[in-house]
Amino acid sequence: MRATGALFFSLLCHVAADRSAQVNISRMLGQQAERVMVLGEWEERWEQGRIGFHQPTVHKMLEMNLDKVLNGRTGVRFFFPLCGKAVDMKWLADRGHSVVGVEISEKGIRQFFEENNMTFSEEPVPEIPGAKVFKNPEKNISLYQCDLFQFSSSIAGLFGAIWDRGSLVAINPKDREKYAALIVSLMDKDCRYLLDTFLYNPDQYQGPPFFVPGEQVKSLFGSSCNVELLQSVDALTDRQRDWGLDSFTENIHLVTLKNSSAAN
Ligand code: SAH
Repeated sequence: MRATGALFFSLLCHVAADRSAQVNISRMLGQQAERVMVLGEWEERWEQGRIGFHQPTVHKMLEMNLDKVLNGRTGVRFFFPLCGKAVDMKWLADRGHSVVGVEISEKGIRQFFEENNMTFSEEPVPEIPGAKVFKNPEKNISLYQCDLFQFSSSIAGLFGAIWDRGSLVAINPKDREKYAALIVSLMDKDCRYLLDTFLYNPDQYQGPPFFVPGEQVKSLFGSSCNVELLQSVDALTDRQRDWGLDSFTENIHLVTLKNSSAAN
């Protein structure tokens, strides 16, 4: 009886601690906690060419940390959530890896193939009404045009690596738990997930990209994954100053499933 009581008490403490961590995190997010961008707003940005997030060159943080992601492996299956037309996809494909991306903007996907001089096929995705998949089989790149939250491992299997740039920071803050659960469900046991987030004062700018405190990265992934902060760099440029920010830190994390061979 006493043991059961103690267990119940410790469970209660755990739940209370979890609750207070959640309350703390949503306090940290400030007004951003409630901010919602509907998919149409993203598509409108693509239509109007307001895609300041796109970089014409391979992301430095991917380049610098690629060895850690590969961990000696070749021909890795990479997942790009919210892929846009990131040139990183071509860069990895040129190195013999395969790439699956998900992006709501058909325009963005078409531009990716066109700007990289790649032909592509286009077919419906039977599991997701209205979705399409655009493929270049030579380079092993498949880009799904759909809402990420409609995507699952039953559509394209599990992945050996994930490059999350402009993805966790772009989805609506209230969807982060759902997002983390989806990402973890797409990780193969040896998956190495490279996650790029930003720290800044959310009272100064409404996002996107949204502010993701380190405490939240831990609370989102910490129960099923090891989370290692690989780099934390000052990334403030005129672009962020124009948003009204006076500090902007970029954090790169390596996330691996607990008890997996990828965790060293
Ligand atoms: N990762 C890319 C793009 C980042 S911007 C890069 O590094 O350049 C975020 C992208 O996600 C936009 O292209 C937007 O159209 C897309 N997007 C936003 N919400 C989405 C969702 N729920 N499902 C699929 N794509 C989404």
